[in-house]
Amino acid sequence: MVVEEKTTQTSKVLMVHKKDWKKVGEEFYGKDMMNWELKCPSCGHVQSEISLLKHHFKNERDGNGKELTIEEILKRLKGKEKWFYISYECEGRVNKGYGCHYVNGGFIQLHELLVMDEGYRRRTFLFANDEANKKLREFDVYDEVERIMEELKKRCEDAGNNWDDFAWDNWIPEKAKESILRSWNIWERTPMSWFKNRREYEPTHGERVKRTKTTYDKKEYVIEGRYLHRLNGCGLIITDEGEVEHV
Ligand SMILES: [Zn+2]
Repeated sequence: MVVEEKTTQTSKVLMVHKKDWKKVGEEFYGKDMMNWELKCPSCGHVQSEISLLKHHFKNERDGNGKELTIEEILKRLKGKEKWFYISYECEGRVNKGYGCHYVNGGFIQLHELLVMDEGYRRRTFLFANDEANKKLREFDVYDEVERIMEELKKRCEDAGNNWDDFAWDNWIPEKAKESILRSWNIWERTPMSWFKNRREYEPTHGERVKRTKTTYDKKEYVIEGRYLHRLNGCGLIITDEGEVEHV
């Protein structure tokens, strides 16, 4: 008997940049994200923004008792980015009779894909089309992220108890080093305690990120640069000009 070898890998989480995720989505479903079909990892329900809205507003009527058009339905769905819901929650949570109650941010984690967007990671449902998911794997950066973090871990191990022996990356300016050492070169704290203090959702060491901050007089400004972990889920952004911003 010939046993067919499984070629699809489902145990590892895929990590894909948003631009690549969008590229694949557009290739298989077209430019309008409303038509993209995603699959709930818990019950397998296939949903799109269009199907979700159709089901949701199925029984609603306008003032004259007429069924709502898609345009009218869309007007009622304000404030959320288009792909927000269908990539994260099963339709069953809003439309009874379709799918289940699974949500990506819940206690049980079944997500197989993280979409990376300027330093944020978003747990996302896979596409309903297996060919699209196969294509997505070509853009997977999971191994690269692992490699970077393993390398940083090794440097922390090599430094042992002594921060003087830690090999800093050359893109990290003195001011940023001082900021880290203020919290971590005290008591029994070592480079490894700093490394272990990282939270799962933080960007990868050195990853390019973008954040919007607000000044005291409520003006918004954008910071772009490389991410560096500091303390308890907070980090520093090192801009290309060598400026250090707390985030
Ligand atoms: Zn479901």
